[in-house]
Amino acid sequence: MSDPPLHVLLIEDNPGDVLLIREYLRDAHGREYEVRSVDRLADGLTHLAESQVDAVLLDLSLPDSRGIETFERVQAEAPAVPTVVLTGLDDHSLALHAVQSGAQDYLVKDELTPGLLGRALRYAIERQQLRLAASELARMKEDFVANVSHQLRTPVHSLQGFLNLLMDGKVDDPAVRREFLTRASEDAARLAALTDDLLKMSRLESPRFQLDSGRVDLGALVDATNELLEPLAAERNIALLHSAPDTALVVKADEHWLQQVLINLIENAIKFSPEGGSINVATTTSESDAVVTVADRGPGIPAHSTSSVFEKFFQVEGPHKRAGRGTGLGLYICKQIVEAHGGTIGFSSNEGNGSMFYFSIPAIELTEPVAELIS
Ligand code: ADP
Repeated sequence: MSDPPLHVLLIEDNPGDVLLIREYLRDAHGREYEVRSVDRLADGLTHLAESQVDAVLLDLSLPDSRGIETFERVQAEAPAVPTVVLTGLDDHSLALHAVQSGAQDYLVKDELTPGLLGRALRYAIERQQLRLAASELARMKEDFVANVSHQLRTPVHSLQGFLNLLMDGKVDDPAVRREFLTRASEDAARLAALTDDLLKMSRLESPRFQLDSGRVDLGALVDATNELLEPLAAERNIALLHSAPDTALVVKADEHWLQQVLINLIENAIKFSPEGGSINVATTTSESDAVVTVADRGPGIPAHSTSSVFEKFFQVEGPHKRAGRGTGLGLYICKQIVEAHGGTIGFSSNEGNGSMFYFSIPAIELTEPVAELIS
């Protein structure tokens, strides 16, 4: 399929130049152009505000605007659209000024050829896309650093505070000293959890990341994970239950990373469950997929947060977040892992009535007895 035509806005008041440029763009090889021309800046700005434009060809001397101001007004209206300035032979310094202010290129009208015009437009669009991608990347990096610093600051300050109080030697009461040491140790554990999650995230996001896949009995992995998390659940008197079909659910998966998904989902369910409650983990099938669900009786997730829970650093406002627990990375990590396995992840929740997280990945065999599959 050929590429769609590029929409070019030509802002030029000289009818001869308009005709010539239209003609040249009709002859330009490699791409089809749809040219819309206007002879006043005001009309150009209106068109930019109302329509999708891939590139602007701009004469700086128009009946309603002259000089660099012409370019500045176009850029203010559509900063993301690349602009190529058209100049006369004697306008080099003005054209350079426009390029220094953000124009992608300039072309001297008397030197135009169809090839030159087509190339200048295509490169201008390409360069602008690279420029936008680079500034988006820089913005994401800034956000990320701000988020990580914010997450680190709370436990680091708190840890420093408790250690300073203990070092001052003014805490005589052994019970208070013990309490401060416990809090300091919790802060250190939180810092360790955060660095662990950041490392996992960076491994998963690396272009070199690869799954080390083999045959995994999903039911057995759930049992092993429940056993691992049993002590954590027992601290809050929570029962971890597992319902599984009679036949093995075998998937092609990276066992280490798949268990990480189960750990994150079950740990969240424990964290958010009321004391003395129970958590139901079920392994089932849906068409040719193996499905795991983790259901709790916690507070659920508000409908307005539904689209955000799998985003990096997202945490629902509430006591859990205010207490500074969690990193907001667990579900993001789950999503990366499940998708790397060709699966999907989601949840359903009624606020106040618990949450049920689920994920599915392709099953390789559904019917053979467990013993024959796992040897
Ligand atoms: P965190 O480390 O904060 O738990 P996650 O990425 O695992 O980070 O979860 C993001 C947010 O989604 C949590 O802070 C919480 O607000 C919400 N959440 C996750 N699991 C549950 C659950 N089982 N019940 C209620 N809210 C949950």
